[in-house]
Amino acid sequence: MYSEELEARKKLIAVAQKCLEYELTAGTWGNLSVRLDREKILITPSGFEKSALKPEHLLVVNLDGVVLRGELKPSVETWLHTAIYKAREDVNAVIHTHSPYATLFASINEPIPVITVDFALAVGHEAPVTKYVPPGSKDLAEEVVRVLGKDKSVVLIRNHGAVAVGKDLENAYHAALLLEKEAAIYFRTKLLGKVEEAKLPLEEVERLHSIFVKAYGQKGGKITLKLE
Ligand SMILES: [Zn+2]
Repeated sequence: MYSEELEARKKLIAVAQKCLEYELTAGTWGNLSVRLDREKILITPSGFEKSALKPEHLLVVNLDGVVLRGELKPSVETWLHTAIYKAREDVNAVIHTHSPYATLFASINEPIPVITVDFALAVGHEAPVTKYVPPGSKDLAEEVVRVLGKDKSVVLIRNHGAVAVGKDLENAYHAALLLEKEAAIYFRTKLLGKVEEAKLPLEEVERLHSIFVKAYGQKGGKITLKLE
């Protein structure tokens, strides 16, 4: 195995552990992938405890979902991952979570507005909700790609969970984490009856996000994550 690929495997596992730690995923639920090159991605296996993942458990699949390397079965949402990479050349990492607050709003079909400056800076748009589509289906992949559009970083999947994408794993992870945090804050603003007071005005969201994009040269910015 090329050392570059081994590094990618170790990094994907480190991010998978972070997702578990912050309860973005639980047990075997949720899946992560990273682009190796234009044709191939590295993806987590299906039905496998994330806490037990080792570099050799990950699978290399092409963008048609064909397994090129690996013994286990790839994630049941492999179509979702490959469809996003096909549609978005700017995306190099995809994280699908079942994080509790994001899933709550996904289930009641309610987009999460931009409230905090962190979310405005790094994500810069409300989190929209897809139509209901069964898990593990090609329809789910198509629907998520449709709602992600050309430049969104996060999408809520109706009655299911969320997807975060980024130009690298750090950015996708950061977006997934910020989405869950924003959802938890939004939930509390609703309890307090203060949603309108809490929302950041659209112009300010756009201003902040453009600063972030400019500062780092491209959408998604640069985020450094300590992966120990
Ligand atoms: Zn799922």
